[in-house]
Amino acid sequence: MTDFAVRLHRTGGPEVMQYEAVDVPAPAPGEARVRQHAVGVNFIDIYQRSGLYHIPLPGGLGQEAAGVVEAVGAGVTGLVPGDRVAYAGGAPGAYAQVRNMPADRLVRLPVGIDFETAAALMLKGLTVQYLLRRTCRVEPGDAVLIHAAAGGVGLLACQWARALGATVIGTVSTPEKAALAQANGCEHVLTGLAPADLPAQVRALTSGRGVRVVYDGVGRDTFMASLDCLAPLGMMVSFGNASGPVAPFEPGLLAQKGSLFLTRPSLFHYTAQRADLLAMADELFARVLDGTLRVTVSHRHALSDCVRAHEELAARRTTGSTILLPN
Ligand code: NDP
Repeated sequence: MTDFAVRLHRTGGPEVMQYEAVDVPAPAPGEARVRQHAVGVNFIDIYQRSGLYHIPLPGGLGQEAAGVVEAVGAGVTGLVPGDRVAYAGGAPGAYAQVRNMPADRLVRLPVGIDFETAAALMLKGLTVQYLLRRTCRVEPGDAVLIHAAAGGVGLLACQWARALGATVIGTVSTPEKAALAQANGCEHVLTGLAPADLPAQVRALTSGRGVRVVYDGVGRDTFMASLDCLAPLGMMVSFGNASGPVAPFEPGLLAQKGSLFLTRPSLFHYTAQRADLLAMADELFARVLDGTLRVTVSHRHALSDCVRAHEELAARRTTGSTILLPN
């Protein structure tokens, strides 16, 4: 049987993704071969495909998928063929029907989480886990600002922050996205605002004080306005670049704006140790299984139709998670 994967030979627009026949070798020592049933699409795939983030070329693309272990290499313990698994991160190459993965990056899926849910959840949900539970631990009564609140990360972040007892303020671009954000835990949604107008609106909603933390995955367009939405000693979490990378700035600004904290975190550092990955996944799966988190798979495409999936995500036409179906 011929297997197919999406390959990149150069960086560029969505059209550089090529759907090609591939030969997947037997898993090397420490690896497991995974037959993938659903693949997650993430904004990081766009950064890597466009060249904003460097990846080795020619090569694969994609960071997240769920499927079944078909074979394991020498030295792999704790996984056997037939196990249902998922992963987020590692070498790009998730846009594939089948691939080899380092076995220590795979997490067993609990009964009750299907492949599509897992592919929509792993990377975005683990991100939300560390952002809300480790980067800045959200506490009851906190006011938090979440940009792109109806997006893949956004919908999960709003639900989880609300469940932790926070007052969630979200930003979105359209009334349809606003309704979705509201249905997923946002108490206040700011719709279609120019970034310059954001601080005054956020202060009006927080008795003039500002929020304790901003989760900003939009980047260039919102960074400065986000700083102005924070209460003194607030935490700016700049975790993405959907509108482009943040421009260099003078650290003294953080003092002027209230002795603010700033971090630019990445999931891949938070999950680098396997014990952390497993603990994070355990908590994430528990929140899905106890109903705290609903996973919204809004868009499904064939793997061979990944160009359309990228175009729609980049053009802000999606909500929730997008997945690719390999077969
Ligand atoms: P989303 O589903 O959130 O899509 C991005 C959203 O960003 C859009 O829907 C749009 O929402 C908003 N946006 C604002 N300006 C722009 C713009 N100029 N172009 C495109 N989108 C824009 O994507 P993901 O859930 O996959 O990722 C969200 C963010 O989280 C990304 O920045 C991603 O890189 C980051 N991320 C970071 C991780 C980390 O560990 N650091 C890990 C995972 C994700 P609207 O129209 O409502 O404004």
